[in-house]
Amino acid sequence: MITIAIDGHSSCGKSTMAKNLAKELGYVYIDTGAMYRSVTYYAMLNGMIDAEGNIDTERLKAEMPNINISFKFNPNTGRPDTYLNGTCVEDKIRTLEVSNHVSPIATLGFVREAMVAQQREMGKAKGVILDGRDIGTVVFPDAELKIFVTASAEIRAQRRYDELTAKGEVCEYDAILKNVQERDYIDSHREISPLTQAEDAIVLDNSNMTISEQQEWLLKLTKEVVSASE
Ligand code: C5P
Repeated sequence: MITIAIDGHSSCGKSTMAKNLAKELGYVYIDTGAMYRSVTYYAMLNGMIDAEGNIDTERLKAEMPNINISFKFNPNTGRPDTYLNGTCVEDKIRTLEVSNHVSPIATLGFVREAMVAQQREMGKAKGVILDGRDIGTVVFPDAELKIFVTASAEIRAQRRYDELTAKGEVCEYDAILKNVQERDYIDSHREISPLTQAEDAIVLDNSNMTISEQQEWLLKLTKEVVSASE
């Protein structure tokens, strides 16, 4: 059993890859983006983000001990649902509104510290796959397999648009493209744990790949790494 880190840009299919791989291997999948999204949703619900997007960081810092995030496997979707203080928030954290506020929240040192500690605890037994931005660089720098996923911003925005539309959310492609580009910028330029490729990560540009092609590529690679580690 190994630890697998899947990092990369927003909306490039990391969670689909991680979910499917976890199913193939019987590993546990931890969606770290869902954790930052849950903190953001909590801050929005409790009036800590104003109309201009300013965050009341003092209040949020004081509230951190009251924010409990957990995952429960959902056999219908084949992936973990996210729970915030005991309530399932899986749909609530995937809206464009949460996406628009999450990256500034994820720049805050006290938020990252709390999330990284929880991720290390959740993933301390091997046989885990984590997807995020800083897994291979910060959370589990010793992970045996590190993948860095990317694709063009336009393709990623189109995929996100299709996903949200399929769920019945009314949205505009241009607004999603803007969100993807802004998150890329903030995630890559923040001071603490910026999105960077770990030196020993294997890059996957999936702009022109189907989900099953990616899956095949990833499974083959994983099997090689697992057998080399045995
Ligand atoms: O992966 P997802 O798009 O759901 O992540 C939402 C946001 O959470 C990212 O845009 C990023 O700002 C933040 N994030 C992070 N570190 C992680 C995972 C997500 O900063 N490990």
